[in-house]
Amino acid sequence: MGTLPAVRAARCVRTARSRRPVAGRQKKQKFVYDFTEGNKDLKDLLGGKGANLAEMTNLGLPVPPGFTITTEACKVYLESGQEPPALRDEVSAHLDALEQRMGRKLGAPADPLLVSVRSGAKFSMPGMMDTVLNVGLSDASVAGLAEQAGDERFAWDSYRRLVQMFGATVLGVPGELFEDALERAKRDRGAASDLDLDAACLRALVEEFKAIVAREAGRGFPQEPREQMDLAVRAVFDSWNTERAALYRRQERIPGDLGTAVNICSMVFGNLGADSGTGVAFTRDPATGHQGVYGDYLQNAQGEDVVAGIRNTVPLAELERIDKASYDQLLSIMETLETHYKDLCDIEFTIERGRLWMLQTRVGKRTAAAAFRIAVQLVDQGLIDEAEALRRVSGGQLAQLMFPRFDDAEAGAAGVRRIGWGIAASPGAAVGKAVFDSYTAVKWSRSGEKVILIRRETNPDDLNGMIAAEGILTSRGGKTSHAAVVARGMGKTCVCGAEELEVDTKRRRLTATGPDGAPVVLEEGDLVSIDGSTGKVYTGEVPVVPSPVVEYFEGRMHAGAEEADELVRAVHRIMAYADRVRRLRVRANADNAEDALRARRFGAQGIGLCRTEHMFLGERRELVEHLILADTDAERDKALGALLPLQRADFIELFEAMDGLPVTVRLLDPPLHEFLPDITELSVRVALAEAREDENENDLRLLQAVHKLHEQNPMLGLRGVRLGLVVPGLFAMQVRAIAEAAAHRLAAKGDPRPEIMIPLVGTVQELEIVRDEADAVIAEVERATGTRLRLPIGTMIELPRAALTAGQIAEAAQFFSFGTNDLTQTVWGFSRDDVEASFFTAYLEKGIFGVSPFETIDRDGVGSLVRAAAEAGRATRPDLKLGVCGEHGGDPESVHFFHDAGLDYVSCSPFRIPVARLEAGRAANAAATR
Ligand code: ADP
Ligand code: MG
Ligand code: MG
Repeated sequence: MGTLPAVRAARCVRTARSRRPVAGRQKKQKFVYDFTEGNKDLKDLLGGKGANLAEMTNLGLPVPPGFTITTEACKVYLESGQEPPALRDEVSAHLDALEQRMGRKLGAPADPLLVSVRSGAKFSMPGMMDTVLNVGLSDASVAGLAEQAGDERFAWDSYRRLVQMFGATVLGVPGELFEDALERAKRDRGAASDLDLDAACLRALVEEFKAIVAREAGRGFPQEPREQMDLAVRAVFDSWNTERAALYRRQERIPGDLGTAVNICSMVFGNLGADSGTGVAFTRDPATGHQGVYGDYLQNAQGEDVVAGIRNTVPLAELERIDKASYDQLLSIMETLETHYKDLCDIEFTIERGRLWMLQTRVGKRTAAAAFRIAVQLVDQGLIDEAEALRRVSGGQLAQLMFPRFDDAEAGAAGVRRIGWGIAASPGAAVGKAVFDSYTAVKWSRSGEKVILIRRETNPDDLNGMIAAEGILTSRGGKTSHAAVVARGMGKTCVCGAEELEVDTKRRRLTATGPDGAPVVLEEGDLVSIDGSTGKVYTGEVPVVPSPVVEYFEGRMHAGAEEADELVRAVHRIMAYADRVRRLRVRANADNAEDALRARRFGAQGIGLCRTEHMFLGERRELVEHLILADTDAERDKALGALLPLQRADFIELFEAMDGLPVTVRLLDPPLHEFLPDITELSVRVALAEAREDENENDLRLLQAVHKLHEQNPMLGLRGVRLGLVVPGLFAMQVRAIAEAAAHRLAAKGDPRPEIMIPLVGTVQELEIVRDEADAVIAEVERATGTRLRLPIGTMIELPRAALTAGQIAEAAQFFSFGTNDLTQTVWGFSRDDVEASFFTAYLEKGIFGVSPFETIDRDGVGSLVRAAAEAGRATRPDLKLGVCGEHGGDPESVHFFHDAGLDYVSCSPFRIPVARLEAGRAANAAATR
């Protein structure tokens, strides 16, 4: 594309500064592009809106002529505080050309050209300046406009809108002042809507608006058209740095220096009477993906009127009756756009006296279900290929489709009423009894009740209640509030910021307004249902329906079956494609046969993390006590001997469930005191017994042990490999259980593939000692059973030191599994349970990170350790198998990172396996097109 040397030159400066000297190559930078000069791929330079206006123009669609001021001009302004010196002349040249073309001059009294000034960055973001319409109108030109249009009311209506929009957005006058004045005018005249205000009235309103501007802005409304335009352009530039926009960018990781473009577009008028109007439309249904006519239309209206709810709109299909010619043309344009963009588009249009104009288009937002359906529909229509279809969906969308949902049909049933609509903070559908404090939540849930914890907002004191509750509902706070952050961390359903709910924790009640407008009071113990995927809150119990997509993954519904709906078929096809192209394997974190079997149904190719701590809980806790209290070798061996058959049986079941697939078993990781009684409870018991002079020897010894094992920082204390080195025989017993279980399965003609994983290794010496011991045990079992066992021994990489010395550690490890949970804790120095509850909200709000590093891998910090360790490990041992078993293994963005880092597999909870499979496919797909 030879037309845009300036763009290329600019890119070179930014991306290839060190490689190529730029002196002499830089041409004079071009800051203004006519709509005819741009295209949809120039979003960096022209913003999304400008690039698409240009694309439509070049497709020959009826777009009102105009031009775009580039993001580069904005950047200069943001850096220097001034528009680039060349900008004024360039704008003048383009304005001249536009005036020539339109046969009118901007704001000329007799026959004014009017324009809109519209912001448009590469990514649309909140906080950017609202569009100003009718720029160019003034006391002098309003009469000319009336004359030309033959409609005085229209001219004053347009002028009224300009002063209002300009006053509010460019001059910063509080918008309510105008709205209040408009309301008063309507009331005084008994007008039902703005349409009932006549020219004289609108004219009076303009005077009033101008007076408001003069009073509030400290300057009069500018009468000079070019000044209006320049001020509006500058205001768009300035809006890049509004607090809202800046915060949004920090949170969404959008660079702060992209700048926004500004579009100057000649006006077309939907407010010229009944044969005019304005509308919005989708090229297909954004909820289902079905092709058809979806949109709204409003006669005799301008701009945002159609979405502002000021008057009742009509469904787009009605336009056929109102203006058949425009309707047919619109449908044919929609088809052109779909075929061209090969995707669902949303559009804004205006009809001016029977003539259709296109004002905006972009690839439209859609629901998760529609994303899958549309992608497959487009493949079937031959518009895109399967690789593209895979690009069009995401793991996040698939995850949404896998949550159980409330049955919408039932949400209107007796006893069920919607009383609020807050922020969908953490997905899922939860039903329970309303409780208003943490204490009650814990108490009730202990006695088997399901509860929903309702608070105005939560704080760290609510943590126990949040753990006990089915779901959390707050009336304050957004997606980064304490409730939202902690609930997401726990995977618990949460609706927050349902502001219409009045929560009275003292009186333990919630007051709301029902759909009929009548007040609803919810007392402690009343049933409440919350939908964390939509943010909706209901009284009563809404029935929960399982997700058809989960039914499909569970194998209870087949994609080819009659009852399978279009969504299931679409998911099936896209998953099949993802599986075909992905390189990363996907394993499950599962500790028992039941989870393992589900994981297998969901497509797991092994177990990446089998924790063994549950094998020490329940009734077996007593055996652990014996182990800890053992004074002699004999006592200890006895305790271990009692644990051995139990663990072996667990492993046999697990290896059978995962027959033929690898199962990575992690030897005991948590500190031993977790298996001992609570220190306070035990102290009380001992004290009471003392008082009764009825001491229990065992309790006394236990208490001593508990004291001895008590740690200030258990996370950094005696756990993981350290336990194996300090408690004689513990790891050997576990290894024996694994080896004997494998031998047992082999004897039963099975295909067991266990792998032994040592946690929390910091140095190769630790691993060597444990490995030698394990090898000896395995050899013994082989001799005793007469079988040949292949049991790879590897380690977790979850301490910075392990990552930094990975080259050495690989000498003793046959595989690495990155424990990114602990690695994140130790790299950041964060204790997860403490920091999420106490200050993550503040960190997220300040934009220190956009998403918790426990949710998505911190590429720059933790990620670079992972990369370096993977590289060093493979340098030592080229066939070193690399995986990840932290929760990041099921996080979409992190999966892409692990693909790029060259790992062999990710491992995640069974439920997230489909998401990981899909994203692994998307990662391979993306890498192939890079
Ligand atoms: P947003 O980004 O909020 O959609 P837009 O720039 O699209 O803002 O404009 C707001 C409204 O004004 C939209 O309804 C749009 O269609 C309308 N509009 C923008 N420019 C013009 C114009 N030149 N003539 C008529 N209506 C316009
Ligand atoms: Mg728009
Ligand atoms: Mg760990």
